[in-house]
Order: sequence, then structure tokens, then C-alpha cells
Amino acid sequence: MAFSVFMSDPVPSNPQLVVDLSALIRNYRTLQGVARCEVAAVVKADAYGLGMKPVVETLVGAGCHTFFAAYASEGAQVRAIAPDAEIFIFAPFVEVDADLLFDNSLKPCLYDVSQARTFSAAAWERGRHARAALHVETGINRLGMNRKAVETFLSDESLQSIKIDLLMSHLACADDLESPNNRSQLEEFVGYREKFPDLRASLANSAGIFLGPEYHFDMVRSGIALYGHDPHYEKIPARVVPVATLQARLGQIKTVEPGQSVGYGATVTCATATRLGVVLAGYADGIMRRLGNEGPEGPQTVSINGHRAPIFGRVSMDLITVDLSQFAPDEVKPGALVEIFGCDVKVEELAQRARTIPYEIFTHVGSRVPRVYVDGCG
Ligand SMILES: *Cc1c(COP(=O)(O)O)cnc(C)c1O
Repeated sequence: MAFSVFMSDPVPSNPQLVVDLSALIRNYRTLQGVARCEVAAVVKADAYGLGMKPVVETLVGAGCHTFFAAYASEGAQVRAIAPDAEIFIFAPFVEVDADLLFDNSLKPCLYDVSQARTFSAAAWERGRHARAALHVETGINRLGMNRKAVETFLSDESLQSIKIDLLMSHLACADDLESPNNRSQLEEFVGYREKFPDLRASLANSAGIFLGPEYHFDMVRSGIALYGHDPHYEKIPARVVPVATLQARLGQIKTVEPGQSVGYGATVTCATATRLGVVLAGYADGIMRRLGNEGPEGPQTVSINGHRAPIFGRVSMDLITVDLSQFAPDEVKPGALVEIFGCDVKVEELAQRARTIPYEIFTHVGSRVPRVYVDGCG
């Protein structure tokens, strides 16, 4: 990842992902208010691209004690920041991770019996306690341990040394309030829970938190809602606040003559003399190429001083061109800040135009983009 800076440091002209850590705390508190149980933070993929260290530090400061990462290597990153936290790893246990896992006291999720045996053996060889989460299958059919495997797991004497610290499962359709899968997964999970009445239990991701209290159990696992996207935003707006803003600088302003085309492929031609702004950010920074104005949905717009400017022509690696016709001649100058997504251009809007989801927008912000941390929108 690119270097992390705080806003008081000088910031160069390249695009920046500005992360508002007080908004992160606000969202954490909002989720605590809704869930009324432990809110664990999912910080896989460098905390959804926002930057592992400041995000984990901030959440620890807000009282968060439990973290989930995708890989053991990510868990080790969390451990270095949060020495006292409980850290679970979503990836199935594989032998090559054993040292990383035990040296950092990380708890893997177990998904089948042979994996549990390998894990138990790896712990025994190292003289360590084997502690893990049991991730049961309730209907998403990706990694969960099915009923039969759970029976085998429970009856296998050699696996008794594994201490299960969490019973968990994962919802497939929680972003759809109407999906019947939610209730059927809930019922499946309740069935498993009867077998493990004393275990802490967790079913809900961000979207699941808002499905109602029966989905909360002892712990919810939130990622995207902490970072400012509510998966039900179309039906119920404004429950969480934006945390991340991708901004860039206006590099040049020019007027292009009628009949001239702009950008690679000469895909757009100016009908009249057109004032254009060249923005210093492109697909290497996370502005998907699909956002160029060739698609059926029309162009994505960026925001400059609170006014919208449509992307004009193709998205290049380091540049986009925007139409400044709507702006008065002196209203914007080179060096002006351009918001790609944030408080004005919502990440949901950008994701929709790019035919993807906010998760992918966040995790596609380029590795060369410095993450800049602020405390409050000031
Ligand atoms: C990524 C992930 C989460 C967090 O999901 P969000 O929708 O970002 O809240 C929770 N549980 C599992 C198993 C995951 O893989």
C-alpha cells in the first residue's frame, strides 16, 4: 500500500483517499445501537482498502475487541496493531499458515473434519492450544461445515482438544430484505445452535444487522457498514455516514474546438467549443474504465466545489477528462479538488454506473493512492 499520512502533512498532487476516522467511530456506535450485542469488525483486504493500521487503531480505541481478517497474513497485521484483540481468520486452515497463525494467536474458521484434524495436529506439534471458530453451512454453500461433518466433528475423540470459541455462519442474501433465504438460513443456524448452547454465536454481516434482532445472537460481524455503505440504502437511507472520499486534482483546463475528439479511441467529439478539465486520476487509481461515457447509462459525474461535471471520453490510466461547460469561466482553476466519490458523489452511485458494488469500488482504489486520515470533515 502507499504511505499513510495525516492531513496536517503536506499532500502531493496525486489522488488521495481521505478517510474520516470520526465517521468510522460514528458508524461503529450506530451499529452497536442497532445490534445491542458485540460488534466485531471485519478488516479483510486492508480494511476494505481504507488502511489497516488507522482503522484497527481507531476501532480498538472505540472499544472493539474482535476482528475478522481473510488470511492469516492479514491477521498478523491486525495482531501487530491490536495486541489484546481476538482475531479470527476466514480462510480455511492450511498447514503453511500454521506458524503465522499460532505465533500471532489467530483463530481460524474450521470448515471440514480433515482441516480440523490438520489444525489439531499442528497445534499439538507446537505445544499450543487449538482455538477456532466453527463455521457451519446454512445455505450459502461456499465454505461452511455441513451437518454430517459437524456430527463427525463432535464424535471424533481426537478433535476434543480443539476449543471452539465461536459458532458462526454467513448469510447469502442479507442485502435483500425480501429474500426468503434469510429466514431459512436463520432457522438452520438456530438448529445448529441447539447443539452448541454454550457457544458464542454469530450470523450477521452488515446487512444482516438490519434484518432484525433475531439475527444478532451474541456477535455481529460488520465490514462495509463501518466503512459507510448501508446495503439497504435504496429502501432505508442515511443509517451510516460516508467514511471514505476519493479525491483528485484538476490538472489543466482547456477549450477544445468544435469537431475535435477527446481521449483514446476518439470516442467523443465536441459539438461546440467545449471547456474541459483534465483530472489527475484514472483507472490505476480506482476510477473504473467502465465509467467513461460510452456506456448505455450515460456518463458518471464527478463533483467540483459541490457542482457536478460529467466524465467526457474514455478513462485513461492516470487521467480523466470532464466537461466544465456548466461552470462559470473563473469558477474552477487548475489545482481544484475533484471528488470521485465521497459525501457528494455517493459510492453507491459510482458502483451502480460501473455495474459493481461499493465493496469493489473501495477495494479497487489503487495501491499508489495515499490514504489520508482526518478526524471530522474539516
Ligand atoms: C466479508 C465478510 C463479512 C463482512 O461483510 P460486510 O457485508 O462487509 O459486513 C462477514 N462475514 C464473512 C464470513 C465475510 O466473509
